[in-house]
Amino acid sequence: MAKVILKPRKARPFWFGHPWVFSGAIDRVRGQAADGDVVDLLDDAGRLIGEGFWNSQSQIAVRVVALKGEGKLDAALLLKRLDLAITLREDVLRLPEVTNAYRLVHSEGDGLPGLIVDRVGSVLVVQLSCLGMGQFMEPLVARLAERMAPSGIVERESRTAIDEEGMTRTGGVLFGTAPTGPMEVTEHGVTWLCDPMEGQKTGWYSDQRENRRFVAPFARGREVLDAFSYVGGFGLPMALAGATQVTCVDSSEPALDLARRSASKAGMTERMVFEKANVLRMLDHCAQEKRSFDVIVLDPPKFVHRRADIERGLTLYHESNVKAFRVLRDGGVLFTHSCSQHVSDSAFDEMIAAAAKSVGVRAQEIYRGSQAPDHPVMLPLEEGRYLKSRGFRIQRSGMDIEIAPRIPQSNTEE
Ligand code: SAH
Repeated sequence: MAKVILKPRKARPFWFGHPWVFSGAIDRVRGQAADGDVVDLLDDAGRLIGEGFWNSQSQIAVRVVALKGEGKLDAALLLKRLDLAITLREDVLRLPEVTNAYRLVHSEGDGLPGLIVDRVGSVLVVQLSCLGMGQFMEPLVARLAERMAPSGIVERESRTAIDEEGMTRTGGVLFGTAPTGPMEVTEHGVTWLCDPMEGQKTGWYSDQRENRRFVAPFARGREVLDAFSYVGGFGLPMALAGATQVTCVDSSEPALDLARRSASKAGMTERMVFEKANVLRMLDHCAQEKRSFDVIVLDPPKFVHRRADIERGLTLYHESNVKAFRVLRDGGVLFTHSCSQHVSDSAFDEMIAAAAKSVGVRAQEIYRGSQAPDHPVMLPLEEGRYLKSRGFRIQRSGMDIEIAPRIPQSNTEE
């Protein structure tokens, strides 16, 4: 087995279990390592830290899977991790009691780098972004089929993996049969239609489950905007909770079509309207036409894909939140989100404070949420924390200053 030797003073995070070895930390490779191979990771004194997957095409040259003492990185170890992932959802979180859509395997969060498995009704949807993990798909799929008895296991192509990891997998049916149309997913008593084959990612955003549940009761007797609604994840439970009207806005017609069909099945057609639009433009129109809402949910797509995009992404988050605040009634509530891993909690909070300031509203935080627990964070990989959810009750202070900087001035003494 090839040995990857770290530079002096670079080994500390890996002894503590951080799984990502960037190429800059590596001094040399002893022996032949092909991309996707299992390699030994050693510190500069030659001590074995653990075993991981090698990929020279990736920014993350080694993904450490097993520390010394945890056993060899082989099919048996990965299957054990898969069993643990399944019992977390079934026995610890007891998710099957409240939903038929959840993340069964969350990559590094379950000690299985690059492997995502979502249960969407009777189907399992796989996304793979680690070349080495791909070599173990046969036993992993067999175990998934045996333990979960799905109607099908399908793989969805991951564009990022193809671009950044040199993956060549293009997706397809790994077991059983693929669904031929939309599937029903149920969560805390609400049922939506989604499409695991054609829809976004794996078809359903189970990471918002707990936030959706928290937000729904706020809608009773209120006029709601579900901005970036996808298939109506927030909007439908809000209508069912008694909103006077829910407006779902998304740029995807197929997503809105599914939302419309779910609303009709739930008997909510009268209370829900669907607008295909760019949310930012729609919010501008609302401001011009003096159209406003009591409750707004803002759940934009990932604006920051890589570290270098943080500034540009924060500007977009700022712009969307400013526009949402503008059309929120006095005393209204904004639930705002970011699923960008590179945007820290503090950067997100500062952005919102600045957005509130620049439209002259006082924002009172009433909710802080994150990703649902079937998207666990395996310490010490802080990078696994990606979803930020915040709720604010706002009061208009009447001073629409508009010119406040995006980043507020800190008043802490250095
Ligand atoms: N709130 C949803 C998930 C939203 S995912 C849920 O709970 O399931 C983000 C959505 O934003 C996607 O459906 C995508 O189609 C949509 N989108 C991306 N850019 C957009 C834009 N500029 N205007 C409107 N919708 C957009």
